[in-house]
Amino acid sequence: MVTVDELFAIDSLLSDTEREIRETVRRFGEQRLRPHVADWFERGTFPARELAPELGKLGLLGMHLEGYGCAGTTATEYGLACLELEAVDSGIRSMVSVQGSLAMTAIHKYGSPEQRGHWLPEMAAGRVIGCFGLTEPDFGSNPGGMRTRARRDGADWVLDGSKMWITNGSVADVAVVWARAEDGIRGFLVPTDTPGFTAREMHHKLSLRASITAELDLDGVRLPEDAVLPQARGLAAPLGCLSEARFGIVFGALGAARDCLSATIDYARTREVFDKPLAAYQLTQAKLADMAVELGKGELLAVHLGRLKDRGGLAPEQVSAGKLNSTREALAIARECRTILGANGITLDYPVLRHANNLESVLTYEGTAEVHQLVLGEALTGAKAFR
Ligand SMILES: Cc1cc2nc3c(=O)[nH]c(=O)nc-3n(C[C@H](O)[C@H](O)[C@H](O)COP(=O)(O)OP(=O)(O)OC[C@H]3O[C@@H](n4cnc5c(N)ncnc54)[C@H](O)[C@@H]3O)c2cc1C
Repeated sequence: MVTVDELFAIDSLLSDTEREIRETVRRFGEQRLRPHVADWFERGTFPARELAPELGKLGLLGMHLEGYGCAGTTATEYGLACLELEAVDSGIRSMVSVQGSLAMTAIHKYGSPEQRGHWLPEMAAGRVIGCFGLTEPDFGSNPGGMRTRARRDGADWVLDGSKMWITNGSVADVAVVWARAEDGIRGFLVPTDTPGFTAREMHHKLSLRASITAELDLDGVRLPEDAVLPQARGLAAPLGCLSEARFGIVFGALGAARDCLSATIDYARTREVFDKPLAAYQLTQAKLADMAVELGKGELLAVHLGRLKDRGGLAPEQVSAGKLNSTREALAIARECRTILGANGITLDYPVLRHANNLESVLTYEGTAEVHQLVLGEALTGAKAFR
C-alpha cells in the first residue's frame, strides 16, 4: 500500500531540512496535540496560553520571519509546518497563522525598529499573544468599508469601533487594529489592557471550535503617537499580511484533507459491509482514488507555489489559486470521507467531520472562495467584477 505522498513522490521534491521540519512538527502534533484535540473541539476551548510557549520553543511562531528571535525559515518550510499542524486541527494552525503571519508580520513589515524590538521577541517565544482585527460586523469581504475610526487628539490617537470574528481576540496581549484615519487606513498596536478596549469570546460556533474567536470593542481607546505602524498606509497594508496567511492555508488545508483520507482508508480496510471490507468495493475505491488524485495535485501545487515564493514572491492571483484550490478540495475530500465512515463519521471518535466543519471556516476566512474566484477572474480577463 502507498500513501498519497508516496504516490506523488512528494518527498523527492523536498530537502533534508524540509523533511526534518515536517517530521518534528508532525511528532509534536501527534504526541502533544492529537490526544486532546477532540476534547477541545467538543468543549469549544483551546489552551492558547499554555500552548503558545511550546509552539514558540519549536520555532513555529513567526517562523518565516527574520531576526527578533524568529526562526527565519523558507516559505516552503513554513508551509509544511502549517500542513502538519492542520492535520491535527485547523484551529491550531489558525492560532499559529494569526500570531505569525498576521500579527507578527504586520509588526515586522510595517513597524518601527522600537515596535519590532519590543513585541516580536516576546511573540516569537509565545509569551505574548497577538490578534489581527480587520473584519467588522458589516465588512468582511470588503474591509475597505470599515467604520472603525482613528482620530488625533493632541499627540494621541483615539480609536472607536468594533471588530468581529477575531481569532485569539480574547486571549491576546496585543491587538493589531486597522482603523480609518483622516489620511486613510492605518494599523495600530493596541495593548489589550488599554482602557476602552474589550474582547468578548464568541460562542455557538459549529466550526473551528478548538480556536478562540472574539468580538473586539474599541470605545475611546487612547493610544500614544508611537502606537501607529508607521509603514502601514492604506488597505494594501493589511492585505499584505493576509497574503502571507493565505499562503499558509495553501499547505494547511491539505493537512486536514490528508488526515481525513488516511483515517478513512484505515476505516474502510477493517469495516465489513455485506461480508467484506468496505475498501474492497469498487465504489469505495473510486472515491478513494479521486480523493488521492486531488490531494496529490494540491500538494504539488502547494510545493510549486512555495518554491516560487522562496525564489522571489508570488502574485496575489497565484496565492488565490492555491488558497481556492486547497480549501475547496480539502472540504470536498472531508465530506466524501464522511460518507465512507457512515454513522461513525458524524462522531468525534474520527477526525473527518471535525475537519469538514473546520474547513467551512477556512473556506471563508482570509478571503472567501468567491473572493478568490474574483481575484482570478480579474487576472484572467482584466475586468474587475467585485462591484
Ligand atoms: C472562525 C473565523 C475566524 C476568523 N478570524 C479572523 C481574524 O482573526 N481577523 C479578522 O480580521 N477576520 C477574521 N475572520 C473573518 C473573515 O475573514 C470573514 O468572515 C471573511 O472575510 C468573510 O467576510 P463575511 O463573513 O463578512 O462574509 P461576507 O463578506 O458578508 O460574504 C458573504 C458571502 O458573499 C460573498 N461575496 C462577498 N463579496 C462578493 C462579491 N463581490 N461578489 C460575489 N459574492 C460576494 C462571499 O463570498 C460570501 O459567500 C474570521 C472568520 C471566521 C469564520
